[in-house]
Amino acid sequence: MAAAGARAARDSLRDMTGQTALGSRGLLSLLLPLFLAGPAPAAGPGAAPPGGGEIVGGKWTPEQLLEHDPAWLAGLGLEIPASELWDGKGGLLEAVVQVGGCSSGFVSPDGLLLTNHHCAFGILQQHSSPERDLIRDGFLAAERSQELPGKGTRAEIPHRFEDVTAQIEGSVPAGADDLERYEAIDRAQKDLVAACEAPADRRCRVAAYDDGVRYTLIEALEYPDVRLVYAPPRAVGEYGGEVDNWMWPRHTGDFALLRVYAAGGEPAPHGPDNTPYRPRRHLRIAPGGVAEGSFVMVVGYPGSTSRRLVAAEMDERFRLFFPRRAELYRAWMDLLEARSGADEAAAITLASRLKGLANREKSSRGQVAGIERGDLVAKKRRAEAEVLAWARDRPEHRAAVAAYDGLTALAEEALATWDRDFLVHQIDSGPLPLAQAIDLVRWAREGEKPDRERRPEFQERNRSRARDRLERDQTRLDLPAEELLLLDLLARFERLEGEQRVAALEPLLAAAGGERERRVAELLAASRVPLLEERLAMLDESAAELAARGDPLLALATALVEEVVEPLELREKRREGAESRLRPRWRTAVAAHAGRPVAPDANGTLRVSLARVAGYSPRDGVWMTPVTRLAGVVEKHTGEEPFAAPEAVLAGAAGAAASRWADPALGDVPVCFLATGDTTGGSSGSPVLDGRGDLVGVNFDRVWENVANDFGYNPEIARNVAADVRYLLWLLDGARPAGSEALLRELGVDAATR
Ligand code: ASP
Repeated sequence: MAAAGARAARDSLRDMTGQTALGSRGLLSLLLPLFLAGPAPAAGPGAAPPGGGEIVGGKWTPEQLLEHDPAWLAGLGLEIPASELWDGKGGLLEAVVQVGGCSSGFVSPDGLLLTNHHCAFGILQQHSSPERDLIRDGFLAAERSQELPGKGTRAEIPHRFEDVTAQIEGSVPAGADDLERYEAIDRAQKDLVAACEAPADRRCRVAAYDDGVRYTLIEALEYPDVRLVYAPPRAVGEYGGEVDNWMWPRHTGDFALLRVYAAGGEPAPHGPDNTPYRPRRHLRIAPGGVAEGSFVMVVGYPGSTSRRLVAAEMDERFRLFFPRRAELYRAWMDLLEARSGADEAAAITLASRLKGLANREKSSRGQVAGIERGDLVAKKRRAEAEVLAWARDRPEHRAAVAAYDGLTALAEEALATWDRDFLVHQIDSGPLPLAQAIDLVRWAREGEKPDRERRPEFQERNRSRARDRLERDQTRLDLPAEELLLLDLLARFERLEGEQRVAALEPLLAAAGGERERRVAELLAASRVPLLEERLAMLDESAAELAARGDPLLALATALVEEVVEPLELREKRREGAESRLRPRWRTAVAAHAGRPVAPDANGTLRVSLARVAGYSPRDGVWMTPVTRLAGVVEKHTGEEPFAAPEAVLAGAAGAAASRWADPALGDVPVCFLATGDTTGGSSGSPVLDGRGDLVGVNFDRVWENVANDFGYNPEIARNVAADVRYLLWLLDGARPAGSEALLRELGVDAATR
């Protein structure tokens, strides 16, 4: 599940604290495939792909593609020169862009973007009501004028990349302590971004690779008018729901089509005169599809991975972070599910939050299971011991030993207030009005500082995103549910002891049972934060103006910000400064010890993973074949959600073998396939290309055994899950709803020639 929108952007910044997400420590890392292993290697069809050369994991940067041996690439199955994909300035990869936190690919000259259903879910929700439930029914614009705007959904189209390592490194004064170091790097990045964004509509960022060994300034054009063109019914786009999520075999048509609009090719806010954006490059659909053994490339924007973490940090993720997060989200899901079951409108309001919690809850369990099954922490310790012994003998790498110890010490220090810090970070995923109130207070307080001194997420460049989000939140906010979440959160803070107690919450905690419930209900009822117009006005108020409102929720938020949020942030800045000092030394030694090319950890930049369509063995005695068919959709159909396939699909499946989208070898229309791609969160919507660079599918998930691949690539179980493009074509063609013929033509596939 992709995070979307402004809070996602802010979360990813916050993630640098190491609390909210794995990928969080931001700047650092290299790949450590050798450290990891899953279940015992299994031999089976596809385990050793015939004659195609060895597939190695790695989310390669476009530049790294050019560094690979062309003969090796050709041996794998790449039929075009790598330079056609990327020549250092541009190429076919330009067709792959980020949209709403997901990956996507242009598939027509008229700005049509193919991505996942779950990436467009927020737009469906924005336009749904019990009377017109697009989440349930899906959507197809009969003509372009009916395409649905996605509030806050933006397409980012990068066009300039500049190595700025020297500027960033040069900005740190000699003798700087860790906080000063953090601040110097932070300021240098902000200055580069500000200069880059001086022309209108630019969105720039400084991406750090390999622990800050390299920094790249990326300049993108940001298109805010993105509209929904097609999404299948939920019973197709999310077939199997949470039961099948992170699993194989899969029968999900996780597709959506969006269109980017522009004014004279330039970014413009949503407006009736905008016309479809014409991308420089778009991907051709390959209706011939793929088969077991086919070479494929997964191209997209993987968010962040954690292969750089040292064993002590990984242990914290394994023992604390993932189990706690799974438990917390399960509890919150239960509350939201109960509320959704009781009220139809609440079910729509809460749908995307529930989906997000469920996705992360299950992936947290998957991480724990994967780390445990592979004994990954112990393996990492052993591998690190080898590097340490090796580095001790080499003067040029001796500093890595102290750096390693420093990173271990940082991880241990964080344990002292771990429970409280964890809860503070989780407020964002819990009671929405409290999260909003904290946000508003922070905007006001940070707003009093010069722009360059603020936390990046509270810089002026992010204000309109914050506004969009506050507005969008209105369709996700349900006061009875918020009350339940807040009560649960309070009960968790109540269990903290000693120094971790939070004084700001004591007045609420002093009451118990029904009395506390009454106070919480009153608190939310008395606050004006849940009212959209008021909330939007608050975004532009000063701290004094907010205080003068006498709003009890804003008062609570202010007390929390002062007592816990800002002090935590300060500690985290220091820690980040220390990490940026220590980690590069350690990782440089690790890479030198490995003695071969490595791909940097994911950091939200464009990457290419080289892969092959292949099955796998999840456990002893079981072999998973890599392609699923429409017959499997019918087989899973029970009539009960999440296995209630639409009538049209069931009826069409009977004659699917005769459809032109059927795979002759399968005798059916293919639905999903597995490949050995190296993917993570954010890779959703990544086009999956064949050896000619044509589109054969859309990535949307990983298998359960592979959730822990954020810690390393294990070829035995590294399987990404893609929806086969032929299923999309069959859905559009077979169903023949109004609008689909034009769409098929636009995709380069003519319905009339069936
Ligand atoms: N489902 C993920 C996404 O939304 C992809 C993954 O984690 O494999 O990006």
